[in-house]
Amino acid sequence: AKHRGGGAWQWFSHAMDEGMQLQVEMRAFIHDAINQQQFELFYQPIINQKEEIVAVEALIRWQHPQRGFISPAEFIPLAERSGQIIAISDWVLERACGDRARLKELGIPTISVNFSPIQFYRDDFIDKIKAAVENFAIKPGEIVIEITENVLVRDSEQIQWQLEQLQELGFSIAIDDFGTGFASLRYLGTLPVNILKIDRSFVQNIDHNQRNAAIARGVLAMTSELGIKAVAEGVETDAEHEYLRKHDCALMQGFKFCKPQPLDKLADWVKEQKK
Ligand code: C2E
Ligand code: CA
Ligand code: CA
Ligand code: CA
Repeated sequence: AKHRGGGAWQWFSHAMDEGMQLQVEMRAFIHDAINQQQFELFYQPIINQKEEIVAVEALIRWQHPQRGFISPAEFIPLAERSGQIIAISDWVLERACGDRARLKELGIPTISVNFSPIQFYRDDFIDKIKAAVENFAIKPGEIVIEITENVLVRDSEQIQWQLEQLQELGFSIAIDDFGTGFASLRYLGTLPVNILKIDRSFVQNIDHNQRNAAIARGVLAMTSELGIKAVAEGVETDAEHEYLRKHDCALMQGFKFCKPQPLDKLADWVKEQKK
């Protein structure tokens, strides 16, 4: 039977409320998910003004044999609390690097990977990323590290140092969901940031929501002044696309262009685009 996300979420939050025993069970459950290959990595294109694909964002999917599809928006926060996010993230990084060769063959220059704040709080974090790209002979310049502003809330000097290290190695840093987190604008002046991803909540109805339009235009002006890239997330309609295009938003992502897809389907989509 196919369960909707809501059911799975209730089950998970119930597990978290019930305390240790069920948390231990959930641990085993996610462990199984990794070992039994219940996770998949989907890819969503990021496109430029010519509608050429310039990157893909890797997005995890969990298809549980009994409980059906469980959304990452549900299990990632719980995995962060249980510590399992480290094992999941290791799997994501490994798979993303493993898929990199095929993505390259498709002419896709970079791959954007979501990172959890929890990963940054581990001492072996940078070594792990370095090892992953070296194993697969990937240039760091082909990888974008997506973090949310919330990464910066804790121990920001340590985080800043790590981000500088990563950038020095050649990785790009993207701030995800820009505008929705707890950090202040001040960090943009000091942190090594290459890309801002304008959160979908500001992109929605941008063609007739004047507040959203003002915020998005402000972010676009600011990124252009700072010499960093902006990506509009969650572009769904022609009108949103057209508005953003007219206001010189160079990079966009959203269902309007392509939904997140398994690699095979993405390959079909890319070939179709090239026709
Ligand atoms: P996110 O990083 O902000 O990812 C973008 C989300 O927006 C994805 O949801 C994507 O499917 C969805 N999206 C893209 N275009 C559109 C659109 O036009 N309209 C709408 N309504 N949605 C759109 P998804 O895949 O369910 O992921 C949810 C969140 O889970 C992600 O938000 C991210 O925070 C987290 N996540 C997903 N994969 C990973 C992962 O591998 N590692 C970590 N740490 N977090 C992940
Ligand atoms: Ca993201
Ligand atoms: Ca986002
Ligand atoms: Ca998000």
